[in-house]
Amino acid sequence: MNKERIEKVAQHVDDKWKDKDCLLCGENGWGMAEVEIACIPWGRVLPLVASTCGNCGNTVFINAVVAGVHNQEEQHGVATPVANTARKAPK
Ligand SMILES: [Zn+2]
Repeated sequence: MNKERIEKVAQHVDDKWKDKDCLLCGENGWGMAEVEIACIPWGRVLPLVASTCGNCGNTVFINAVVAGVHNQEEQHGVATPVANTARKAPK
C-alpha cells in the first residue's frame, strides 16, 4: 500500500474509531497493511486493510472501499459493500 493510501486509511480510522485502544491488551499502537480476502462462494475479492496491534497482534479489518482507498482500476471482481442493514444489539 502506498503512503497516500495508508494516510487516508489512518484518517478514516481517526474519524471513525471512537476508542483506539486495543480490545485485547489496551495498548494503542496500530500498524496497517493491505490484504485481499477472496469471497469463495461468489468468486469475488474483498479488499481490506488490516490494522494490527503492535503489542499483542490483535487484527481488525477495514473495508478499503468504505474507507475510500480502493483503487478504481482494481474494481474488477471486487465485492462492493452492501447497505448497513444489520440490526444493532439491544442495550
Ligand atoms: Zn493489543
